[in-house]
Amino acid sequence: MTQSPNETNDDVVEAVGEYSPEATGDASLPDGEPRDHGRGGYLPLSPDASVSLRRRLLTGVVLVVILTISITGTLVAGPYVNAPADASPPTHRVQTIVIFRNDDIQPYYRTETMRAVDRIFVEESVPVTQGIIPMTGDRPIDETDDTCTYLRRRHRRHPELFEFALHGYTHEKLTAFYSGSEFGGLSPRNQLERIQKGTKIVKQCVGERPETFVPPMNTYDNTTAKKVAQVGYQTISGGSWFTREYYGKTSPFRAHGVSHVPNSASFVADWSTNRFRNDTELTDDFDRAYRNGTVYVQMIHYPTFDTPAKRERLRQFIDYMQSKEGVAFMTVDQYTDGIQRGTIRRVDDGWIVPCTADCDRTVRSGAAG
Ligand SMILES: [Zn+2]
Repeated sequence: MTQSPNETNDDVVEAVGEYSPEATGDASLPDGEPRDHGRGGYLPLSPDASVSLRRRLLTGVVLVVILTISITGTLVAGPYVNAPADASPPTHRVQTIVIFRNDDIQPYYRTETMRAVDRIFVEESVPVTQGIIPMTGDRPIDETDDTCTYLRRRHRRHPELFEFALHGYTHEKLTAFYSGSEFGGLSPRNQLERIQKGTKIVKQCVGERPETFVPPMNTYDNTTAKKVAQVGYQTISGGSWFTREYYGKTSPFRAHGVSHVPNSASFVADWSTNRFRNDTELTDDFDRAYRNGTVYVQMIHYPTFDTPAKRERLRQFIDYMQSKEGVAFMTVDQYTDGIQRGTIRRVDDGWIVPCTADCDRTVRSGAAG
């Protein structure tokens, strides 16, 4: 464990300079991602996924069922008294679904910032999908510092909160596809090889195969989707600005054997300075999704939250979302898995989702149907 003095306290402003992953300075891309942040000395991370999120989600649901049965057995008018004896796990109606996607997990780079951001999600009990970069320079993440150990521990302690996704292979801009892509435009063979190699490294790092693929620069082509599906991924999560242009869609959809769950918005407004979008811009996007009942996927990059004040912005944004009635937070894979199993479904006035700990707050009579 070697930590620099600046990494021992997350209240210390890290003096590492601005997070400037992009070399080309394309700050105009609304929901874009750092254009070229692969080689500058920041790497990915991975967790310990000894127990799958799905299994834990299921466990939680079973517990809720047991609790519900015991409660309705003693109280005359519990929320599920009308449910048949063989009813499915309890569900409730929510207005919208929120997913956080934290990209660029890597070793050696702003480690304490990474951990401080993770702590926010733990303290707020909000799930997050972490995009892990498997290769930094020539080094696989599982042969670097103690990032993999940290990730495994994080997941072991909070299995329902952390999903570990594959975020490319080297995170390099290899083609000119949509202003730069690691995958779009590469040969099918090359794409498959990079996905397979990255998958193997992340699996070794966190102990479980990732289910979600997050293409660097948020861009990919049909071949990427097919190869990701071939390797066994359930979801590909790029950028909505990209899927709007390439697929004509911004909400989650299915194509080439995989679910596409694009991010809705970026936290950063200007990648040349890492200036955040202001509170109104952030809340306006969320409010729109809330009004329309659409899935809201918030992309963040942990290195940009390098001061306590910046991290407070993230916490306040989460608090704002939590202040609204009927917001279900989940990871990318929890969403896709629920859609595929039919435990999550769109209805006229929102979504039916499995009950979680806060279900009793929002459950309504009849919603379980
Ligand atoms: Zn990235």
